[in-house]
Amino acid sequence: MNLIADFDLSGLNTLGLAARARFGARIESAEAIEELAALASGTGLPLRILGGGSNVVLREEVAAVVGFMATKGKSIDQRADGSATVTAQAGEDWSEFVAWTISQGLPGLENLAGIPGTVGAAPVQNIGAYGIELADRMESLLVWDTQERRQVRLGREDCDFSYRQSMFKRSGNRFIVLEVTFALPRDWTPNLSYPGLDSLPSDADARTIMERVLEVRRAKLPNWRTLGNVGSFFHNPIVQPELAQGIAGVPRYPQRDGSVKLSAAWLIEACGFKGYRHGQAGVYDKHALILVNHGGATYGEITQLAARIVETVRDRFGVTLIQEPIEP
Ligand SMILES: Cc1cc2nc3c(=O)[nH]c(=O)nc-3n(C[C@H](O)[C@H](O)[C@H](O)COP(=O)(O)OP(=O)(O)OC[C@H]3O[C@@H](n4cnc5c(N)ncnc54)[C@H](O)[C@@H]3O)c2cc1C
Repeated sequence: MNLIADFDLSGLNTLGLAARARFGARIESAEAIEELAALASGTGLPLRILGGGSNVVLREEVAAVVGFMATKGKSIDQRADGSATVTAQAGEDWSEFVAWTISQGLPGLENLAGIPGTVGAAPVQNIGAYGIELADRMESLLVWDTQERRQVRLGREDCDFSYRQSMFKRSGNRFIVLEVTFALPRDWTPNLSYPGLDSLPSDADARTIMERVLEVRRAKLPNWRTLGNVGSFFHNPIVQPELAQGIAGVPRYPQRDGSVKLSAAWLIEACGFKGYRHGQAGVYDKHALILVNHGGATYGEITQLAARIVETVRDRFGVTLIQEPIEP
């Protein structure tokens, strides 16, 4: 494996920021990780993994060795009881993988169709959409532990999943996901609870649901290929009920532990940010939770805009927004 110096990341992040890493390499096999980790430690720089670059905000100069995950492969294990597990390598495209499971007659992931990025990054923030999250379907995964320098198989219970959170995010890049295995339900029933899907017939099949999800996503979200973005820029904040009660009109989603999830998009829009611009960075004019690159936006413009939003929402509502995309 060769490390490429001054590795250009500009075409490898959906926000479309111009960025270069000190060194970079394409990872085409699980074994290559081991080699890359050794090469990175020789440079004295940290190793960072990039998948589809759809949940990162990159600085102009990334002081790291960046491994671009490109491992491919997927397989099905049909069990005697009629259930199935499917396994995909980390570099597989998530959305293509979901479509493939449906084409194989295996329902269960359809609500998560259309999320950009790779299979390997999906557990990092426990991706979720339309009433389902990865933790509902994941059975186990294989990781490279950069501290212990060995492969480890982890179960769902080891991953400490919660809303857009996992042990992987908290562990600060210790684990590199190599492959993920999903248990797809034998007695599948459609999950049509989410607005946009609730008009489908109650016996809709997985393909119909996937197509509706893709249609709703296309209508709601900007296409990152033409308007750079990373999807939701902030988590929906989870607050104590007293704080939620004091904000008239905000959509509230009570949680099992008594806390309340609020709509971050509503809070940002209420502060007048929808369509707002800061240089070439902006807030999408159809959805206030999405920051966009109008063309040539810099890391500074995006992060200054994000900071202004956080400060304004905190001053007005007493709620602190947490940024979703990671700054490697
Ligand atoms: C238009 C749009 C819509 C989106 N909609 C949703 C949505 O509905 N729901 C949702 O949850 N997210 C959504 N996202 C966010 C994003 O798609 C997901 O977080 C996705 O899982 C990121 O995958 P990636 O391969 O692009 O990760 P990257 O952006 O490349 O990396 C993200 C983080 O994961 C780490 N990482 C990547 N691969 C690995 C690996 N193999 N092992 C260990 N760490 C790794 C990186 O180091 C980084 O810290 C959206 C983004 C966009 C642009």
